[in-house]
Amino acid sequence: MISSVIALNPQRLLQLHEQGFSSRWIARRLGVSPGAIDLRLQQIADELAQQQREAEAAEYRPPGYDPANLRRCRSCGSLVYLWPCLACCLSESNSPDVTHPHS
Ligand SMILES: [Zn+2]
Repeated sequence: MISSVIALNPQRLLQLHEQGFSSRWIARRLGVSPGAIDLRLQQIADELAQQQREAEAAEYRPPGYDPANLRRCRSCGSLVYLWPCLACCLSESNSPDVTHPHS
């Protein structure tokens, strides 16, 4: 039963939902529970949101950006791409007017 929900084209399921067809109506047509339709609609929404976030993140990535280079600084806990951690280097220089850029 669940497989028929998953087998349904996600775009088609969203389209039916956006056209105002209720989960109950779609569920009856597919012979599944309305809960299964709601669950699948939520999964599709989550997948689309994830794709959107990835697309936006890719848009702002500088050329040559490699996410594998992003690490957590052991001293300050900030995510650091270029090593050593600039914030820690600056705070070690004991300059009183240098503030931690991550905080
Ligand atoms: Zn640091």
